[in-house]
Amino acid sequence: MIPQIVWAGLPTPLPDEQAAVQLSGQDNRSLQSASALEVEMTQANFAIHKDAATGNQKLRLVVDVTGPVQASAVMNNALDQQLVVQVKGASLGKVERTLDLDGRIAKEVNFDRIDDSNSQLVILLADKLANLDYRVFTLPSDADAKRPYRVVVDINKPLVAESTAAKGIARPAQPVASSKAEMTKASFAIHTDAVTGEQKLRLVVDVTGQVQTSANVVSSPDPQLLVNVKGASVGRLKQSLALDGNIADTVKFLRIDDTNSQLVINLPGMLEDGDYRVFTLPNDSKANRPNRVVVDINKPLAPVEFNYKPGLKGKVIVLDPGHGGSDPGAIGLNNTPEKAVTLPVALKVKALLEKAGAKVLMTRQDDRDVFGAGASAVEELSARTKVANSVKADLFVSIHANAFANRTVGGTSTHYYLKSRYDRMLAECLQSSVVAAGGLTDRGAQAANFYVVKRTLMPAALIEMAFISNPDEEKLLNSPQFQQQFAQGIVSGMDNFFLQAAQKGGGK
Ligand SMILES: [Zn+2]
Repeated sequence: MIPQIVWAGLPTPLPDEQAAVQLSGQDNRSLQSASALEVEMTQANFAIHKDAATGNQKLRLVVDVTGPVQASAVMNNALDQQLVVQVKGASLGKVERTLDLDGRIAKEVNFDRIDDSNSQLVILLADKLANLDYRVFTLPSDADAKRPYRVVVDINKPLVAESTAAKGIARPAQPVASSKAEMTKASFAIHTDAVTGEQKLRLVVDVTGQVQTSANVVSSPDPQLLVNVKGASVGRLKQSLALDGNIADTVKFLRIDDTNSQLVINLPGMLEDGDYRVFTLPNDSKANRPNRVVVDINKPLAPVEFNYKPGLKGKVIVLDPGHGGSDPGAIGLNNTPEKAVTLPVALKVKALLEKAGAKVLMTRQDDRDVFGAGASAVEELSARTKVANSVKADLFVSIHANAFANRTVGGTSTHYYLKSRYDRMLAECLQSSVVAAGGLTDRGAQAANFYVVKRTLMPAALIEMAFISNPDEEKLLNSPQFQQQFAQGIVSGMDNFFLQAAQKGGGK
């Protein structure tokens, strides 16, 4: 069973991002332990960045820390407009307790001690912010560039005229010019953030009048960003435009009717709400610029470049036995907790993989919480993905047992999130192999929005071995023989996957 996660007010889930950036640095396959270090803040400074196309301003606050930390943020609108950034794992050190900021986007930041190893930044804002207007993340140290670990806070100053279309919220109705507007030109550019190295694709479509936009992302059949443009025909624009091929593949200009169109942007992987932004810009006669529709797409946490070779030898595989410690998972009719069957299967998989020459990391090796007892579900799950992300694993496989109110329901399923071309392939290889090994009903490989398969940078799958709520299957899950067979099925499925992936020719 999978706990459902809601990101309360967090524009970006941070522990993963931290791990993601770590991957882009030196090849570091060793695990880091944040708790063993005494980390402190050493310096804080800020700068204002201006977007050349939109005129948007962004305040970037950078706090240097002496080791890895976790950061998360919440808006506090109760008194003043405050953005509160919690920094887990660092004391204030010698950093100044107050820093004046630019005054227009934010007034000042105060550094508060929470306890010996936790701090918070309280940023007094000039205006209220929407969730999409700020972003908090961490960066690892970079020995080459002589840069320490950092906590970064970006605050965008929203354009007054901007629509909030990225979230699909309709703007108040506005008179659309009676003459028919049409699209006249489309172009795109890639922007690279100097500090983070992250890339953003900006697509700009010129229109001859005012339009309204809204956008949403669909995953099926393939990931696409759909941008509805109300009030403009596609005009003489060509049917489609090839984009960079990395952040987005192509955009098609689709006629809806005489006055409405849609941009269909094909993506290589799924996007989060915070990974794209759609807005309109008014015409600017001084700068000789027409009305525009602007689509910004951030490069999603890039799956590491994979170039798979056949075979298990030398592969780095992370196994995640579901639940553990204070979290029993689902509980069977005869009181078997899910955590007690996921671990022995994972340990058997580990033994088989190691025999085949693979390097195996476990998110837990015994009956315990991965993050710590009493952690939130997000902390617990992100601790699990962080293990995989920080060691550049080749695969991540999470092992669970399912449960349902109807005790006759049974069977095996494997779940994936379509974030790379390999995720479905992995799930299908595992599913056919574990169904053959376990002999239970084949419930298929299914796309799912589960945290651990979505937030891992490498191909990942989550296996629901059987239904612990079904007494027959509960008995099987407890049987060492079934566990061994099932473990063998997982290992064969991985072996098949590496073979198939290698035949596909490596790549991303
Ligand atoms: Zn579970």
